[in-house]
Amino acid sequence: MSVPTGPKGQSQGQPQGQSAKRGAMTPVAEALKTILSGAQLQLTTETVPLLEALGRIVAAEQIATVDVPPLDNSAMDGYCFAHSDLTTNKVLPVSQRIAAGELGSPLAPATAARIFTGAPLPANADSIVMQENVELIDGAIVLRAAVKKGQHVRPAGQDITRGSCVLARGKKLMPAQIGLLASIGLEQVEVYRPLRVAVMSTGDELVEPGQLLGPGKIYNSNRYTLTALLRAMGCQVIDGGIVADSFDNTCAALTELANQADLIICSGGVSVGEEDHVKAAVESLGRLDVWKLSIKPGKPLAFGAVGQTPFFGLPGNPSSVLVTFSICARPYIQLCQGLQAIEPLSSRVRAGFDLATAGTRQEYLRVRVEQGVAVLHPNQSSGVLASASWANALAVIPIGATVAAGDDIEVLLLSELMG
Ligand code: AMP
Ligand code: MG
Repeated sequence: MSVPTGPKGQSQGQPQGQSAKRGAMTPVAEALKTILSGAQLQLTTETVPLLEALGRIVAAEQIATVDVPPLDNSAMDGYCFAHSDLTTNKVLPVSQRIAAGELGSPLAPATAARIFTGAPLPANADSIVMQENVELIDGAIVLRAAVKKGQHVRPAGQDITRGSCVLARGKKLMPAQIGLLASIGLEQVEVYRPLRVAVMSTGDELVEPGQLLGPGKIYNSNRYTLTALLRAMGCQVIDGGIVADSFDNTCAALTELANQADLIICSGGVSVGEEDHVKAAVESLGRLDVWKLSIKPGKPLAFGAVGQTPFFGLPGNPSSVLVTFSICARPYIQLCQGLQAIEPLSSRVRAGFDLATAGTRQEYLRVRVEQGVAVLHPNQSSGVLASASWANALAVIPIGATVAAGDDIEVLLLSELMG
């Protein structure tokens, strides 16, 4: 990939304050800095059952009050014994049987115990041989393989030691973390309450799915995309409805939603056409901090506040919604949710396409990564959602860069951006 000099995506921009005023395009990295600098965690906390906590953000450090595993135990189905007995004995009579959940008695000298995976190691035993490596003759074992001292023993506290912090505050509870908390005996956990996000759709042409599509109308897909994205992130979505394209309607809807929500996200009506009223409404009700990004798709993005309630105005085109939400709104929401690590994981893959003409905006191309190669969807129009549904990643192409097939490029996997 050929990239112009200067930091990626920052080489051709204006200072944010000036660009918001002048209407120049703000580079993505610069806009993100402005957007994220205003993100604040203001959520109260609540305690929820562990099984209801999937996707929630932990609000307090989680300290183990037990060792995991609590006792030395066997990692195999086999036989345990004292390793020192092997110097004088090649045959060890089996003196007891210990299954998982039972406590054996101290092991008699020069004997072995039948032991199963997860069963506690009895006193005096220190090593385990798997059952495949012994021969059982008249109730005694004969070892068929060399045994190292301590072999196949899982020591107490190997996984977690009592008093250690298993999860830091701000960690998202995914299946592994839910299991981890269960493993230290917790049945409930303190988490932040969900962020309440109002989703508002602007456009006289919009009709809700399920209704008759009259002439000149289209279905409101953005509300569904945004609601799904927000729910996957654990947000509580407030339906802000479809708002007609007028300044008064837009102001009234925004004012009402600002009283109910922690954040407002609106789609459409944010450009400068005669039917676009969002920018003016937000300027009159609050403030605009960012407007017009050097991003493709998604140039007419607005960020600011309605009264005290933060506000994102995303473009109306469905793929612009997906991209601008993922790149700009998602990290902001994550910080407001109390999440600590917010970088989307990017990967490097080989380009399976050419991009001969350098763009003037940072591009997020809908691609499908297969076996390390990014295949470009032929239709990158911002109005097309089918290509986003086909894609599994966004290829990030810096301003001014050209790409040749085989070049090393950065991609953001959609699976990393959803949830
Ligand atoms: P706008 O940003 O309002 O100029 O809208 C840009 C394009 O996106 C237009 O073709 C709109 O019809 C379309 N659009 C706006 N809002 C939605 C929506 N909620 N669902 C689907 N398409 C939309
Ligand atoms: Mg519109």
